[in-house]
Amino acid sequence: MEKSNPRLLKLYHRFNKRYFNSTLPAHPLINFSDEFSDRYGDFMVLEDGTYQIRINPEYNRPRCVLYMTVLHEMAHANLAYISGTHGEAFHKEIARLFKLGAYRSIL
Ligand SMILES: [Zn+2]
Repeated sequence: MEKSNPRLLKLYHRFNKRYFNSTLPAHPLINFSDEFSDRYGDFMVLEDGTYQIRINPEYNRPRCVLYMTVLHEMAHANLAYISGTHGEAFHKEIARLFKLGAYRSIL
């Protein structure tokens, strides 16, 4: 079984606790991936139900960018069974994170 990147997993757990009330899955698959070059990262639910987040290592070198991308993909994870787009539900989710101070140390 594929394992998560320890640094990314640590970040995921911290954000899950702080901003998602630990409601996102405790055992996601979160890794750096060079399988794409057109995105900062992406999220999908695998066939076995595992939440997968892939992060582009090239575009996410500065820590603040990495944090933004992980939060963005976790917002998608929180809406996994609601919406897969960047529509209204997604904007509301980002606004919710912003109000919780998720971006305070980043922006
Ligand atoms: Zn997105």
